[in-house]
Amino acid sequence: MAKNRPPGPQGTALIYDKDMARVRLLWDDPECAIEVPERLTSTYARLCHRGLAQRCVQLPVREATEEDLELVHSPEYVAVVKGTQTMSREQLHTLAQQYDAVYFHPSTFPCARMAVGATLQLVDAVVTGAVGNGMALVRPPGHHSQRDAANGFCVFNNVAIAAEHAKRRHGLQRILIVDWDIHHGQGIQRAFENDPSVLYFSWHRYEHQSFWPRLRESDYDVVGQGPGRGFTVNVPWNKVGMRNADYVSVFLHVLLPLAIEFDPELVLVSAGYDSGIGDPEGEMKATPECFAHLTFLLLPLARGRLCAVLEGGYYLQSLAECVCLTLQTLLGDPVPALSGEPVPCLSALESIQNVRAAHAPHWASLRHENSGPVLTPSTWQGDAGPSLLGTPSTGTTDGLKPLLDKVLSCPPRSLCTGIGLAVPDSASGLNLPPALLQEKGVPLREEEEALWARLDSALPQDQALAALGKPLALLDEILAGQVLCAGRGAQPKAPWACGSWPRAVPSL
Ligand SMILES: [Zn+2]
Repeated sequence: MAKNRPPGPQGTALIYDKDMARVRLLWDDPECAIEVPERLTSTYARLCHRGLAQRCVQLPVREATEEDLELVHSPEYVAVVKGTQTMSREQLHTLAQQYDAVYFHPSTFPCARMAVGATLQLVDAVVTGAVGNGMALVRPPGHHSQRDAANGFCVFNNVAIAAEHAKRRHGLQRILIVDWDIHHGQGIQRAFENDPSVLYFSWHRYEHQSFWPRLRESDYDVVGQGPGRGFTVNVPWNKVGMRNADYVSVFLHVLLPLAIEFDPELVLVSAGYDSGIGDPEGEMKATPECFAHLTFLLLPLARGRLCAVLEGGYYLQSLAECVCLTLQTLLGDPVPALSGEPVPCLSALESIQNVRAAHAPHWASLRHENSGPVLTPSTWQGDAGPSLLGTPSTGTTDGLKPLLDKVLSCPPRSLCTGIGLAVPDSASGLNLPPALLQEKGVPLREEEEALWARLDSALPQDQALAALGKPLALLDEILAGQVLCAGRGAQPKAPWACGSWPRAVPSL
């Protein structure tokens, strides 16, 4: 158990250098206009104002070497970016047009080298035990950039380079990358899609491939290649407006079972906050407190060796607050209660089921998963194509009464620590009832929420808790065995929280 204890007294590192704010857009480009220097400066100012920066171990930034960059990028691409230092504004603009959603500045090369170097400094400090965990505030972001291409504001792939560095420099064999940015980090995915030593998890706004970068490879059934099959985990969000319950549920039902089984030696977080409330890119509704919970849920992994590296985040107030909540959790402060309704939406449940079905062949913790993917997602508009699940329901609520009857008639199962999104059905706590799955092209949110509210009041507590899926038993054991908390007698704030949900970050 000791090996999974959260960060020790070594402290939390914060890496920041205002020189990374030198890069800015020099021409009109509405697509790139949101990637501004203030993303970095205002976030750091907030950390100082809240007294968080002062509590951190401040590590110096170094510029990555070209050898570092070439861990992931081709020498030819590195040379192209290096050449931007002496380009005119017009030349920079012309070069940027060769890529998708990118701009260049005469300071791009040194700033991008600093972003990589800061990330490597953080990894070195955490892996060697100089600090317990930490965060790197960097610009430009990295997770979209590829071997030979800048992409989506990203020039060099900070986190992918860091993972490769951790493997080669420190000999690590299992690295978990958690990409909670709202865009798919296709650059990271491509770097490691054949590599079983890096487990890459990303959730991303997808909307059935209609949201940028609009890639087929971002969908749930793309799981890696060759020996890397099962080590790429994509959770597509097919609706905007995802809330705290949706995010936490994906962690509990998808990421953590796999991560615990993977048993990483290091956790790298591609910490983009365009997944936070108010962001114009994500249009999601997760509050800053959610990022405290997400961070906290990752701390039992890899002996707490967690490196968070800034990616996106374009609504400055939300960005700064979300970073604060992440950092104060790394520092060991209590995790605040989550606000909002504790009900994952139907679209999130569908994504969860699809990912679990796609990964069931690859992970022992999902071996019990006996259901296939949802082929008629609730978020499809119009003709959703052929259904393998039967004739779609024609009414808005017709499909819900059989579901309610089925749930209420289901005998209670053995009591265990519970999470409130699962239905106590047959083999899987996440097996969506057929009647619900048959709804197609119908806005179910209100009916769905009303149903869950009724279930919540109708089901005795024990029965609701009995709905926990089997993979969470593993999580339950891990958490219950090693976090200090209010215990089973405590009343969890939200029904998706475990009975033993910790109310404060434990100390050693
Ligand atoms: Zn993003």
